[in-house]
This record gives sequence, structure tokens and C-alpha cells, in this order.
Amino acid sequence: MRALDLLLPQRCVVCGSGGRQLCAVCRDELPRIEPPLCIRCGAPTAWPVERCRECAGRRLAFASARGAVGYDAAARRLVHAWKERGLRRLAADAAQLVAERVPPPAVEALTFVPSDRGRRLERGHNPAERLALELAAIWELPCLPLLERTRGGRQRGSSAAERRTVRGAFRAAGAAPRSVAVIDDVYTTGATAAASATALRAAGARRVHAIAFARALRRG
Ligand SMILES: [Zn+2]
Ligand SMILES: [Zn+2]
Repeated sequence: MRALDLLLPQRCVVCGSGGRQLCAVCRDELPRIEPPLCIRCGAPTAWPVERCRECAGRRLAFASARGAVGYDAAARRLVHAWKERGLRRLAADAAQLVAERVPPPAVEALTFVPSDRGRRLERGHNPAERLALELAAIWELPCLPLLERTRGGRQRGSSAAERRTVRGAFRAAGAAPRSVAVIDDVYTTGATAAASATALRAAGARRVHAIAFARALRRG
């Protein structure tokens, strides 16, 4: 925790009320992702399906993807404060929310989506790594730095841009365990999770699960 965080009165990063970085009201109001879900990509669906409109016809290297909350305006504010301001406490809150919604994955280890060097130097931390470490403690699993970036930064903007940017963006730093869960802060199109899974499978993983704190939801 940085000195400023200790000195300044704490305010909720979502609503601004005094007290905690994430107040109980805003925490309760974050839109939990509830079943039924697409078994593959974790999108909420009318009934459980193996493929949904969002993922059908896509080649996705992960076995499943799950998110804890919908990526609405409140979740966006929380993720922003946690990423850009480095509010460590929020990573722990996010991990608790994930653990409430997502069952412990049947894997040998967790890993995380690496941030590119520039962003990491700028922020001094990798938000996905923080979340993975918190989850590893809750689930009593090892957290291994299995992935590295091959190039470039993470693209913001359109879904097509994300897909183009992340294809081939990662490689494994060494041999991967047979089953791994890759942790990220936000799941948007699934392209990042898929590229991570592709790299892990190339390094020996048989099953890769993707787990994110927040998941973008399409309006149905
Ligand atoms: Zn609040
Ligand atoms: Zn799906």
C-alpha cells in the first residue's frame, strides 16, 4: 500500500462515499454473473448450452471461461482504480468476489496474463498478477508466471482490434502443467484468454481454463 493510501481518508471508488475503497452497498450491487451460462465461454444464457451465440464457430483454445461480475459502469470504475491507482485492497475484494461466484478450478496451477513492460513500469504492478496471487491464496493453488509477451502492448478499442493484437502475443516461459487456469482482470472478447491458452497448450498444457473478475456482457 502506498503512503498516500494510508494518509488519505478512504472513499469508495464507485460511489465516492467515505469509509472503504469498495463500500458494502456498491459491492452488493455489482452485477453477479448467474447461471445458466454457456459452458464454454461463460456468457449468461437462457439455459445451459455448450456453445452460445457469442462463441459458436470461434476457435478458442481454452476449455472454459468464467467471470464473476458483469463489466458494467461500477465494475469499470473498480477495475480502473485497482489498475491505474494500484489500490491493492481492491484486488483482494475482486478475488473474494471471484471466489464467491466461480468454483475452484480443477487445475494444477494458476497463472496470469502478463502485462506489457511499458504498462508494468508505468503502474509498478500487473493487476492480473495481483488477482491471481490473491486467488491462489484462497484456492490454495500455486501461482506460476508461465506466460510472457512476444511483442507490443494491449490494444484498447474495438473487439476486432483486440483479436488482431493478441493473436500470437504470448509464449510460455517454460513447460506448462497439464491443467492451468489463466487469470485476467477483464474478459472482453475472449481473444486474450484464447491467445494465452494457445501459448500454454503449445507448452504442454492439456486443459486451460480462463477466469476473470469482470466479463463484458452483450446485450441480448
Ligand atoms: Zn460505494
Ligand atoms: Zn459461449
